[in-house]
Amino acid sequence: MAGLQPVRGTRDLIGEDQRRHAHVIDTARRIAATCNFDEWATPMFEDTRVFARSLGDTSDVVMKEMYSFTDRGGDSITLRPEATAGVCRALVSNGLTQSLPQKVFCAGPMFRYERPQKGRYRQFHQIDIELIGPAEPLADAEVIACGWDILSALGVARDAVLEINTLGDAESRAAYRAALVGYFTDHRHLLSEDSLARLDRNPLRILDSKDEGDKRVVAGAPAIATYLTADAARFYDSVKTWVGRFGVPFRENPRIVRGLDYYNHTAFEFVTTRLGAQGTVMAGGRYDGLVAEMGGPSTPAVGWAAGVERLSMLLAEPPAPPAPVAVIPVDAAAEAEAVGILQRLRGAGIRAEMAYRGNLKRRMERANRIGAAAAVIVSADEAARGVAQLKDLASGAQGEVALAELAGRLQRG
Ligand code: ATP
Ligand code: MG
Repeated sequence: MAGLQPVRGTRDLIGEDQRRHAHVIDTARRIAATCNFDEWATPMFEDTRVFARSLGDTSDVVMKEMYSFTDRGGDSITLRPEATAGVCRALVSNGLTQSLPQKVFCAGPMFRYERPQKGRYRQFHQIDIELIGPAEPLADAEVIACGWDILSALGVARDAVLEINTLGDAESRAAYRAALVGYFTDHRHLLSEDSLARLDRNPLRILDSKDEGDKRVVAGAPAIATYLTADAARFYDSVKTWVGRFGVPFRENPRIVRGLDYYNHTAFEFVTTRLGAQGTVMAGGRYDGLVAEMGGPSTPAVGWAAGVERLSMLLAEPPAPPAPVAVIPVDAAAEAEAVGILQRLRGAGIRAEMAYRGNLKRRMERANRIGAAAAVIVSADEAARGVAQLKDLASGAQGEVALAELAGRLQRG
């Protein structure tokens, strides 16, 4: 078994990496709760059909990134590449389509067969917000504002810009689609093979291409603004007004179409210049057709997903490593008392560790190595008198403390 490595595109999260990761998820969970979102956890794998149809068969994800396999029972299974389709499936499966709105927060691993690079992995993690039920533009703004609040709480909002666009309603899209087909057909000799395949089936998707040649063609493509119906334009204006009301700065970017098929009206991304080509940290939009695709009634919805790895990289200060209290019996005779003290500290919610190997010097060294903030030095004599020595390992100050007061003293820091 020598030389086993994690599978390409997967990572072990240990130490600071895990602290950053957990901090992003814990913060998002806390802020989502203040916006009154409930956490759901849906399965990490689903019937392939949950993703294949809903994401669109010309999307990058479905065309080349899905981890799909036939299980032992002969069913086609896919490791989830994103959360929204599974949440909508769950809404329908659990009979919640009549209990709207549902405000859902999720966090967990996603799987895409991509070319791994900085900020792009095959197993990555997302936090995710879905507001299912409301058709009002205020809902789009609330979802965006919750994302902004999370970025702010993480201290990364100043590095991120909200870019927003509309994909319009069905009528706007049909008109825009025709314009795009015309334009891209004129430039078809410059398009990548993937984009040629999209030309008939989903020309909007070409706008989202990462191919350099495609990008040059896309730069001259018509924008949707002139093809919007009055209703769609009004909806978009209203979203922008409410986003402003929530205090979220934004700029319009008519090139944002999002990579997945199920979006309509609002599309948005929070982007940063600090992560190179992997600059999108949070992305989403309105997807009024998806619940119906999952077999439910027509149900409006809006949401976003954010990459935990990319947010982790943006955190300025990694969360501090834990600073436990070290309980140090001076010799074997003091160990029984020390265990009692250890348990009392842990019972009081204090992170505590006992050093019990070697002589006193070795034990003190261990306390320093684990980054202990304080040491409780226990001898049998003193314990019999109901006291121990409390040493501040930063200042070196040491003094006697009554065992009954120890936890209280340490809790106050
Ligand atoms: P990209 O354009 O970077 O490929 P995407 O449009 O495929 O992103 P979404 O499906 O919208 O991404 O996912 C939402 C967010 O999840 C992205 O903005 C990004 O932060 C993160 N993300 C997506 N794919 C990966 C990946 N392979 N590794 C790490 N993070 C990812
Ligand atoms: Mg992608």
